[in-house]
Amino acid sequence: MKENKDKAALVLFSGGQDSTTCLFWAMKNFTRVETLCFTYGQRHVQEVEVARNLAKKLNIPFHLRDISVLATLSNNSLTNNTIEMDAEVPLSGHINTFVPGRNMIFLSFAAVLARSLGMSDIVIGVSQTDFSGYPDCRDTFIRSLNATLNIAMEEQFIIHTPLMWLDKVQTWQLAAELGALEIVRNETLTCYNGIKGEGCGNCPSCKLRNEGLRRYLMNNEQ
Ligand code: ZN
Repeated sequence: MKENKDKAALVLFSGGQDSTTCLFWAMKNFTRVETLCFTYGQRHVQEVEVARNLAKKLNIPFHLRDISVLATLSNNSLTNNTIEMDAEVPLSGHINTFVPGRNMIFLSFAAVLARSLGMSDIVIGVSQTDFSGYPDCRDTFIRSLNATLNIAMEEQFIIHTPLMWLDKVQTWQLAAELGALEIVRNETLTCYNGIKGEGCGNCPSCKLRNEGLRRYLMNNEQ
């Protein structure tokens, strides 16, 4: 990543474990880093405040945009609180927290903003290893969209996905290597029920996060 030292990156940032780890990764690998956060009708808008506060604490510019029209276009439990969230990935079909098109739209808007800011590097915390049935977290999708965005704007964007091949244990490991373990552990919000840090402990997101942390800590016990 040495070649990026003089370069700037825009990080898609939601204040959760993954995007916060990506923010620290970007701060290590790029000279100038800015963040982009969206409101899109998600149930737990407190994640926006968590993200804003973290960016402020780290002295990183924070761009917030409202794209809540997204919630009016499909029916899913992440943006419609009358639908009960699936506790786990169903045997067929997608988990109902899946917001169709979300990462495509996030990345497309991110590319437009990055271009305006004079940046061509975009960072997103998706992982194929722990993709929980979300098709737009897969590497093939990211590569495909990267090519499309380059053609669409005649640019040479590079979408970075530092977590793509990491499981949750390895994502905690990366946070630790970046010196960010305590901040990610205590100050990020991943829980579908809107509780910071360890969260509610019961939603699929908490289960994945906490099990990863438990195993990471077990592996690193003295
Ligand atoms: Zn939870």
